[in-house]
Amino acid sequence: MVKILLVSDRQTKIEEYQSFFNKVAYELICTTNETHIIDLIKVDLPDIIIIDSETKSINLKSLNKKIKSLTDNVIIILLTASENIEKDLVKYANAIITDTMSQSIILSTININLRMKNSLDMLSNTNKDLADSLYRLNALYSTSSQFAGTLDKTKLLNYMIEGLDKTLSFSLTCTLSFCTEEKPVLILNSLYEISEELLTAIKLRTLLNYKSLFEGKTLPFEIDPKNLKVIKNIKYPASRFTFTLFQFDNMFAPISLGENFFGCIEIFKETQFSAEDATCFQTIAQQVSLPLKSATLYQEIIETNKKLERLERLKSEFISIVSHELRTPLTSIKNSLDILLSGRCGEITQAADKFLTMARRNVQRLSGIINDLLDLSKIEAGKMDFHFAPTNINTVIDYVKSTLSEVAKSKGLVLETETENNLPKINADAQRLEQVLTNLVSNAIKFTPENKKIKISSTLINSDDVHINENFKETTKLAKGNYIQVCVADEGIGIEEKDLLHVFDKFAQIENSLSRKAGGTGLGLPIAKQLLEAHQGTIWCDSELHKGSKFYFVIPLN
Ligand code: ADP
Repeated sequence: MVKILLVSDRQTKIEEYQSFFNKVAYELICTTNETHIIDLIKVDLPDIIIIDSETKSINLKSLNKKIKSLTDNVIIILLTASENIEKDLVKYANAIITDTMSQSIILSTININLRMKNSLDMLSNTNKDLADSLYRLNALYSTSSQFAGTLDKTKLLNYMIEGLDKTLSFSLTCTLSFCTEEKPVLILNSLYEISEELLTAIKLRTLLNYKSLFEGKTLPFEIDPKNLKVIKNIKYPASRFTFTLFQFDNMFAPISLGENFFGCIEIFKETQFSAEDATCFQTIAQQVSLPLKSATLYQEIIETNKKLERLERLKSEFISIVSHELRTPLTSIKNSLDILLSGRCGEITQAADKFLTMARRNVQRLSGIINDLLDLSKIEAGKMDFHFAPTNINTVIDYVKSTLSEVAKSKGLVLETETENNLPKINADAQRLEQVLTNLVSNAIKFTPENKKIKISSTLINSDDVHINENFKETTKLAKGNYIQVCVADEGIGIEEKDLLHVFDKFAQIENSLSRKAGGTGLGLPIAKQLLEAHQGTIWCDSELHKGSKFYFVIPLN
């Protein structure tokens, strides 16, 4: 029913309007009491206020001002007896009616303004709904951005609660979470303090909710309400909830991690939740699942990594201790064999000499393996000592050539070098580079059949001209600049492409008859790789099966 407020102290007018509006079934309220007018506007806004400018009992100007300051959604129609109206009064009016106007003109003026008010109300409601939706969308967007930014489960749950608070302004949320700590936890985010009595009731209710999710199935956790850990976050601790909390409107949702159950959440609010509230609640409870799952996986990875690191440390320590313990008796065996073979302890027969020589060769091999193991564990533990000094790479190459050319010759192999003259010196540990190169050349000798050639070359090269084998590109990144490049090329058995990357793995030996025959530990190349990395350098290889291999390494000039 249309409601009209008439502010007038002219009794004739009041009576006239009363009978007039009765006919069209509009409700008319008449008053000149300012407090009454203001109360009416605050509690139940009339559709139209007609203010009689002839009213003497109140200050019309200030009343108009007050009404407009209370609400913009009011239509004020000014009623006048004469044409001379005060400008200030006209300022607030939407329309003017005069005593001389016919009833039909007055009614049509009122109806036009009523229609206008309805349209304005509709527009303002739509605007309000739009603003509400926009606010919720923004809040949802910022919540999901927060979700994407962390892998910490506790933070994710906090962001979920913040998001719910922004979009739904709840009174209390009860989140039962199973995976943030070792045991289930009940997290209460509440506006007001919760009494012990209420807490007991909330616990029971939460457990019932939880059980309802697994009807007929086994529960992931058995929970004793007495031992259930509770975390309370209270916004206004000075005030307290009463039991009427359970008369509040509520919503409930499980939080799952794909197949696995993570927890559940119940939310309470004094006023009713709308359909949009329910959608928002479901969206946020679902949205948090994915990052929670990632966070769980991330935590598992961290824990596995920690275990692996511990195992790796134990293994390195074990290798280091065992190798040290083996080295001392081995040195004594080697010395004893040397003495026996030198004849200082008396003549030895030809057969004894043969066996003693064989024993010495194997002791030497064994101590080589132990040295490799020790080197590797030292490098991995970061305990390897390096003596960096300006080093001429060609001196290193010449030294390795001179020590290994006899071995190569005995296999009918030619070991040659092709070094660039006047190469700049590099800052390196010459002994470690000798170790790297000795290993590469020894491998070349080992894996090359008789009467073939092995070549060691050196050159100055810019990073732009270095051609790293495709298989190593992902793991080998070179900084811009100049490098010394060394290459050991053989015409041996070669390595299949699928095995190329693995030759630098610890204990890797490529399965072929020559590898098996030649023996070895599979430690030489990983040691070489680590030693070069300590020089900011890198190593890779090109190879073709049955044609030969080229092992390259580069060390930066600076
Ligand atoms: P080891 O030589 O002691 O077995 P390495 O780490 O030096 O250990 O080499 C690992 C594996 O790489 C070798 O067992 C072999 O299968 C392969 N390999 C290394 N160098 C060559 C080469 N020049 N030609 C063919 N295969 C090679």
